[in-house]
Amino acid sequence: MRRLLTWTLIALAAVSVFLFLLAPAGPAVVGTADWPELAARTVAGAYHVHTVRSDGNGDKASIAAAAVRAGLAFVILTDHGDGTRPPDLPEYVQGVLMLDAVEISTDDGHYVAIDMPRAPYPLGGAGEAVVEDVHRLGGFGIAAHPDSPKAALRWADTTAPVDGIEWLNADSEWRDEGRRRLARAGLTYFFRPAGSLATLLDRPSTLDRWDALLRTRRVVALAASDAHGGPGRRVEDQSRTFFSTVGIPSYDASFRELSVRAVLDRPLSKDAVEDARAVFGAIRKGSVFSVIDALASPALLDFHAVPSGATVTLMARATVPAGGQLVLLGPAGEVARGTGSVKHEVPAEARGAYRVEVHLADAPGQPPVPWLVSNAFDPRPDSGSGGVESGVDPPPAAAPFPWRIEKDPASSAILRTAATSVELEYRLADGARNSQFVALASDVHGQAFRAIDFDLRPDGPSRIGVQVRTEDGQRWGRSFYVDAAGSVLHVELEKLRAVGAAPAAPPRGEAVTSILLVVDLTNAAPGRSGRLTVRSSALIK
Ligand SMILES: [Zn+2]
Ligand SMILES: [Zn+2]
Repeated sequence: MRRLLTWTLIALAAVSVFLFLLAPAGPAVVGTADWPELAARTVAGAYHVHTVRSDGNGDKASIAAAAVRAGLAFVILTDHGDGTRPPDLPEYVQGVLMLDAVEISTDDGHYVAIDMPRAPYPLGGAGEAVVEDVHRLGGFGIAAHPDSPKAALRWADTTAPVDGIEWLNADSEWRDEGRRRLARAGLTYFFRPAGSLATLLDRPSTLDRWDALLRTRRVVALAASDAHGGPGRRVEDQSRTFFSTVGIPSYDASFRELSVRAVLDRPLSKDAVEDARAVFGAIRKGSVFSVIDALASPALLDFHAVPSGATVTLMARATVPAGGQLVLLGPAGEVARGTGSVKHEVPAEARGAYRVEVHLADAPGQPPVPWLVSNAFDPRPDSGSGGVESGVDPPPAAAPFPWRIEKDPASSAILRTAATSVELEYRLADGARNSQFVALASDVHGQAFRAIDFDLRPDGPSRIGVQVRTEDGQRWGRSFYVDAAGSVLHVELEKLRAVGAAPAAPPRGEAVTSILLVVDLTNAAPGRSGRLTVRSSALIK
């Protein structure tokens, strides 16, 4: 018996030594003695973190404690929601600036909105609609996990004017790994959690997507922790894996794996509201870079441009670990490379984005993940974004469409018809979500129209669905923001998207049998009551 115990202990010790040897090395230490001023205003934080408010496992206090242990100065919480919960005020918890944001589910994937006040109605539906709403509300929107192997989560809208993009998402990265690599990381995790997670990273193809976007406009890129602090009922993914079953990664491991660094104008003041403005301001202008801390730390980057007459000199210097390379990338690829700093002159009228990566000799991944990724410097002015149609003249007051009401059995609605307008008074049924809807419907037959103009006035800021239906009941639609002061909509048939299982291509006007103005759970909560006035409506040939 005793001999058996001894041999068991020896075997366990041997396995431990083996796993310890298998575990990746700890982060390389980079010297920063020459950079005190830059170091004082470069603050590390975790972006994209879930709490118990949605599908995370920790509350604010335990997340702040993990952030302190990882040496972070701020955490951006991004619980799943529709934007109608008022965001918590910025606050310091255990010395960490906790910032509250929201991850919104859209028909085109997840979209994170930071620095945004409460939305007047639930944000949802088409990706482009949510991007437009986040803009109007003054928030800053980031396309989440565009690399996710899960189609339902991946940001799939390639044209909506997003403000930012996750170039790396730690929660997506391990989902595409082979079993061998995952199993090894799972075992060595207990010796070196963050380092083991980092062995699962690759250079994501999103970097190419980001470069393509940068050729057309400014887009900020961030590395996302997407930390949930262990197992749980993931909104993101219900599938069971070795990883989620054993409860990894912890917040501690996620926060030590990678982070973002905001480069501020001055060090944090410890006034939460002022510091929130500084951190969000840095992210908005792209004064932020991402680092895989598990590979090397700490990271400092100074990337700026000095104009002189007809040229602009781009200067970059970074803390580069031994054997690493600082690479300056331009619109057409690599333009310069060095071991600690690079300098590159471009004509002042040159158009295009320049950015910096630091590559390590022994970085994990196929191709290897960059250790540091800066944001882009772009001499072009900010291109206006937002897809709101405006400047359309109101359609002439004409006899209104003959409207009638369609609704689910539990919701209620009344229609009041005046000489040139109609008013809908409605109330979506209370309680559980059960496809509640109220719609104004008007029947048309064989009309060769290509657009519909409306002049609508709701009782408060709203998003209304405009839909067309064909004989067989299939529908196409698009949602429109309608201001409380009234909005004129120009709805082009060919820009409508399929609803449900309808074919992608919208019908020709002749095939449309009904036109609908819809209030449903896409942008209204159960129990919502309100009024919608149709001041005019016209078919455009
Ligand atoms: Zn997500
Ligand atoms: Zn998430």
